[in-house]
Amino acid sequence: MSMIQDDFNQFQRISKKLIEAEIKEAVVAPIKAEKLYDVLDLSLEEEGISDDQFYQVLEELVMHTPRTASKQFFNQLFGGRKGKASLGDLIAVMLNNSMYTYKVAGPMVGVEKEIIHQVCRLIGYGKESNGTIAPGGSMSNYMAMVMARDQKVEDIRSSGVDRKMTLYTSIDCHYSIAKNSALMGIGRDQVRFIETDSYGCMIPEKLEESISKDLNDGFTPFFVNATAGTTVLGAFDPIGPLSEICSKFDLWLHVDGAYCGSVIFSNRYKFLVESCEKADSFSFNAHKMIGTPLTCSLILVKDKKHLYNSFSNDASYLYQTDGDDFNLGKTSLQCGRRNDALKFWCLWKSMGTKGLSDLVDHQFYLADIARDYIKKNSDYTLYSFDNSISVCFNYKNIPAQKLCTALYEEAKLMVGFGHFRQEEFVRFVTINSDNSAEDILNFFHVLEQFVEDKQELLLSEALMDS
Ligand SMILES: *Cc1c(COP(=O)(O)O)cnc(C)c1O
Repeated sequence: MSMIQDDFNQFQRISKKLIEAEIKEAVVAPIKAEKLYDVLDLSLEEEGISDDQFYQVLEELVMHTPRTASKQFFNQLFGGRKGKASLGDLIAVMLNNSMYTYKVAGPMVGVEKEIIHQVCRLIGYGKESNGTIAPGGSMSNYMAMVMARDQKVEDIRSSGVDRKMTLYTSIDCHYSIAKNSALMGIGRDQVRFIETDSYGCMIPEKLEESISKDLNDGFTPFFVNATAGTTVLGAFDPIGPLSEICSKFDLWLHVDGAYCGSVIFSNRYKFLVESCEKADSFSFNAHKMIGTPLTCSLILVKDKKHLYNSFSNDASYLYQTDGDDFNLGKTSLQCGRRNDALKFWCLWKSMGTKGLSDLVDHQFYLADIARDYIKKNSDYTLYSFDNSISVCFNYKNIPAQKLCTALYEEAKLMVGFGHFRQEEFVRFVTINSDNSAEDILNFFHVLEQFVEDKQELLLSEALMDS
C-alpha cells in the first residue's frame, strides 16, 4: 500500500491535467449510457489492483466526466470553480469533522455561526434569528415547510397530521415544494399552484382568492412559498404583497431563493427580494450564484425557536458538553453532518462581502450582454426579461430540445432547455461568474457555427415545424 502522500501527489497530478483539459476541450465527448461499462473499467471485484493501475483507472474516469467548471457549461444553475472555496472544501474533507457538536467540530461551529449571523444581518432579520445549513435547496424548503406545519398545529409533531392542510406556491416554482408536501404527510393534492403573470411572478390576488376558498371549504392553510429566482425564467415573486396576505391569514411565508436569493449580497440587486425581512424563513444555495462547490444551502429563520421546536431531540449519547447555541445538531436535519460552511467561509473571508456582491452583479451584467446580443439579431427570439440571469431564447425556430441535445452529443456546448406556458426554449444561464463578456459572446458564436455546419439535421425540421 502507498503512503497517503502518494495519493495526494496523484490528486495534484490529475487535477492539473483536468484543469488543462477544461481549457483545451471545454465539453467532453459524452459516453452513451448503454456503452458506459464497456468504455470504462468501473467494475468492483474480489481482488484489488496495483496502485499504478488504480491511478490510471481513476484518471480515465475523471477525464470522461462532464466538465462543470469549464467556460462552456451552462446546463444547470451552477458552474465554474472558485479556488478559495474549493480549497476550503478540500480542507473540510481532510479534517472530516461532523457539525453536530462543539466537542467534535470545535471552531468550525464558529465558522458556520458567523456565516449565519452575517446572512441574517443582510436579510434584515433581528436578534432572534438563526439558521442552519441543509443538504440542498430542496431540503431547505422541506425544513421551512415542516416548521410552518409545526407552528400551525400545536402537537402535530406528536399526534401527526389529522386534518387537510393546504399550502401555496406559484405554478412556476421548483418541484421540491410538491415533493416535500408528499414527504411530510400533507399530500400533493393539498398544494395550490397559484397563477403567475406574463413575467412568471405569482399574482397576489390569485393567492388571496385561493386561501379564502380553502378556508370556506374547511381546509387549514398554513404555508406560502415565494420563489426568488424561478428555476426556468429566474423570476422573483413579490414578497411584500405576499407577506401582507400571510399576515392577514396567519400563514408562514418562506422565500425559496435557492437560485437567486444570493442577491441579498448585492446593493444593486437586493431590491429584487425587497421586504424579505418580513418572511418567516429564507433560503439560498451558495453553490449556485456564489459558486461554492456543491452543496451549500442555507436556511434562515426570523425566530429561532421554530428551528428548535421542529428539529431538536435530546440525545445524551451525543450532547455531552457545551450549550445548545454551540451544538448545531439541535437545529439541523441530519445527525452526522459534513462541514459545508468552511468552503463558503473561505471564499467570503478572502474576498469580503464586497467581493461576493461583485460576483452577483457580474452575473447580471453577463445576462445583459447575452440579452443585448439576442435583441440585435433577428435570427433569435427572446423569452426572458431584464433582471434575470436566465436568458431564454430560440434560434432560427430550431426546436430547443433538439438543438441542446445535438450540442451535447457533438460535445460543443452544455446547455439545457425549459418551458414557460406553451413555449419551449433554450435556457442559457450566466451563473458562472468566472466567465467574461467574451465567453458569453463565444457561446453564441459556437452555437451559430454549429447550426451552420449541421444545417440539414437541424433546419429541415425547424422549417417543417414553423
Ligand atoms: C435549485 C433549486 C432548488 C433545489 O435546490 P437543490 O440544492 O438542487 O436541492 C429549489 N428551488 C429553486 C428555485 C431552485 O432553483
